[in-house]
Amino acid sequence: MVKAAWIGLGVMGHPMAMYLSRHPDIELTIYNRTTEKAANWCREHDGIIARTIEDAAKGAAFVFSCVGNDEDLKEVTTGPEGAFKTMPQEAVFIDHSTISASAAREVADIARTQNLYFLDAPVTGGQKGAEAGTLSIMVGGEATALQTAQPLIETYSSAIQHMGPPGSGQLTKMVNQIAISGLVQGLAEAINFAKAANLDVEKVLSVTTKGAARSWQMENSGKSMAEGHFDFGFAVDWMRKDLGICLDEAGRNGADLPVTTQVKSFLDEVSQKGSGRKDITSLITRLT
Ligand code: NAP
Repeated sequence: MVKAAWIGLGVMGHPMAMYLSRHPDIELTIYNRTTEKAANWCREHDGIIARTIEDAAKGAAFVFSCVGNDEDLKEVTTGPEGAFKTMPQEAVFIDHSTISASAAREVADIARTQNLYFLDAPVTGGQKGAEAGTLSIMVGGEATALQTAQPLIETYSSAIQHMGPPGSGQLTKMVNQIAISGLVQGLAEAINFAKAANLDVEKVLSVTTKGAARSWQMENSGKSMAEGHFDFGFAVDWMRKDLGICLDEAGRNGADLPVTTQVKSFLDEVSQKGSGRKDITSLITRLT
């Protein structure tokens, strides 16, 4: 059996760890900062609860995380009580959070000095993709480390792409978030227009999802957006974090992001009105 550890059982981490725990060769230890989430996870799935990250990572050949932002990732890896303290030599840390490319490079550099590997492996596919085990994953870091981790990552993904050196997984995720931001705002405007025109929105979505306006967002979130359900999915505040990262990076590479800048300010408005934990499709609430 191979020992692995999972840190962070949130919206995404909970189902991803579930799929990993079903791998026949894996003995999984889990850690969640809020302990009751770890207890809940263990009631349904096979795993050992660790009280600290250091305990979870001890003896683990692979340590996975899906936490929050740059600071959270640093805390769980290189922090005073982080996984790097106890991971064995040559072990691989796979991070599925969305963070900046510079933080990913910084943690990867520290990993190398400690004879560890670090892969920045952000995901796309949303809560539904995580629950279905069909996430698409973009990976930066040593190709050989990815090769050893790949059979485990495959338990919760349908596509894995090695992008290049440390940070390149996160740069690819930025491309993904830039593409999504304008798309969700466009979908919000379209549904709001359909309502203003007194059309049957269900029929509108039924016909438009079969044509050129079709998108993952339209197929998976169009109906709930029209009905005003936002208690799920990808939080407004996570998208604000991600677009902030994209705008910082664009400040360095010179790419012009006018729509992304605008959508970021719309998300700031939605968050200020108390919907920071709602799904990003709550962008439509600005229009209604
Ligand atoms: P979430 O539901 O808020 O879960 C975050 C998890 O990370 C929780 O288990 C939280 O512990 C843990 N955590 C955060 N900071 C920590 C710290 N400093 N130390 C220890 N544990 C910490 O978030 P999520 O939606 O799963 O998203 C997680 C990551 O995936 C984010 O980077 C997000 O941008 C990215 N992502 C999300 C989606 C999506 O659709 N939701 C899609 C793609 C990528 P507690 O339970 O104690 O708070």
